[in-house]
Amino acid sequence: MTQNVQRQRGLDHLKPYVPGKPVEEVKREYGLDDVIKLASNENPLGTSPKAVAAMREALARINVYPDGQSYDLRQALARRFDLPMETVTVGNGADGLIMELCMAFLDEESEVIVSASSFPVYDIYTYIMRAELVKTPLKDYGLDLEAMADAVTERTRVIFVCNPNNPTGTVVTADEVDRFMRRIPEHVLVVFDEAYYEFVDADDYPTTMDYVREGRQNVLILRTFSKVYGLAGIRLGYGIGHPDVLACLHQVKEPFAVNLLAQAAGLAALGDSAFLERTVTTNCVERHFLYGELERLGLFYVSSHTNFVMVEIGPQAGDVVEALLKAGVIVRPCGGYDLPDFVRVTIGERGQNERFVHSLARILGRSEQR
Ligand SMILES: *Cc1c(COP(=O)(O)O)cnc(C)c1O
Repeated sequence: MTQNVQRQRGLDHLKPYVPGKPVEEVKREYGLDDVIKLASNENPLGTSPKAVAAMREALARINVYPDGQSYDLRQALARRFDLPMETVTVGNGADGLIMELCMAFLDEESEVIVSASSFPVYDIYTYIMRAELVKTPLKDYGLDLEAMADAVTERTRVIFVCNPNNPTGTVVTADEVDRFMRRIPEHVLVVFDEAYYEFVDADDYPTTMDYVREGRQNVLILRTFSKVYGLAGIRLGYGIGHPDVLACLHQVKEPFAVNLLAQAAGLAALGDSAFLERTVTTNCVERHFLYGELERLGLFYVSSHTNFVMVEIGPQAGDVVEALLKAGVIVRPCGGYDLPDFVRVTIGERGQNERFVHSLARILGRSEQR
């Protein structure tokens, strides 16, 4: 008699997260030695030099456990945003905080509202907690907050508002969020995932921290050091919310969720406004360069507030992604986001963006009319 190991039921519908292919894997599989990755919204300028120096220095101390409270880092974040320290938490990436909040607030009775074509990590932890996932359709490639509010029931526990939205790059405005928040009952936690907020250049982008400053309990804001600070590999994110909500996260948190190098890196990165500015400026210039090139190729793209752009390729998008891989250019297909005709390309440095555009033009058989 064979005895099978039984997985928990939450895993029944769960598809594992598919990350962008690592450069080394593509080199190996395609026999290439010059490969660029524009698939995971990483920082093309590298990492904040101040963060690198701080991690080098901290290496001498990694025989000890990290500060479980992340006191210095939380204090620095609280100062930066002029918030009480009790409203700031940190996690093993924003992903780690998404896991914690799902563990803290979801069970079999719960419903979670997300938008179609949004960040897939929400779906994963919702399934693991065996909660029900409710998806509202996109409106003009962005989140439809009215539809999301319409979907609320007594069983709704969490709504994920990805703003800007990954993979579409769109934002919802302060007015839209205000109207939305007036409709959301107190028993529903609204999670604003602002992983790209430093890149946003819209005047009407909401200041969601004001909800926390006003003492509103059912708001949690997520941010990350992975994108603008170039620290994706060290795993560090932070959350801003009511102390009662953070106390629930604390109950489920791993004892040392944020490692010692990450704490040192985060603290130093916060003091490196020059790197942040250089990243945001480069991204803005390169985004417009990419827009121009895509227009020359006659391709539709969704105007973006982030360090990536979603481009319409058509029904052959999957083949084009494959052909780009063969050319040593890794981009993200959007089939997994229910947008099979699109690809998402991270905005790189000029040389990388040019290589992407030239490869794409060749693959599509279009001349770049200059
Ligand atoms: C990249 C990303 C995250 C994850 O950030 P980490 O801190 O690297 O875990 C979260 N949300 C969105 C929308 C992202 O694009």
